[in-house]
Amino acid sequence: MSEISGVKYLVPVKQVEKTIKVSDDAKAELQSVGLMDEKGRLKLKGVSPKMIKRMKVEAVDCPVLNTQIGFIQCYVCKNFHSRVTGQVYCKGEPL
Ligand code: SF4
Repeated sequence: MSEISGVKYLVPVKQVEKTIKVSDDAKAELQSVGLMDEKGRLKLKGVSPKMIKRMKVEAVDCPVLNTQIGFIQCYVCKNFHSRVTGQVYCKGEPL
């Protein structure tokens, strides 16, 4: 539990060896909101290509989906509140 209102979980971000693929559902979602182009390239506002590269090898054990999720997918998740000192502040709503 955290003291920030609406935030239910603090989820540590970890490094992974291999890029975790963004699921097809998440891809469609990203494309529909204009965060990804047709070629599957991410266009995150204010996030440099270098940062995106780093985010691709980060992951969280998502407490809502009960599985490991690539950080990019987490970053664009509607439950994502913020990331502070290596932890995701997650609203924890059912997805
Ligand atoms: S923000 Fe979304 S993907 Fe990230 S931990 Fe929370 S529910 Fe999971």
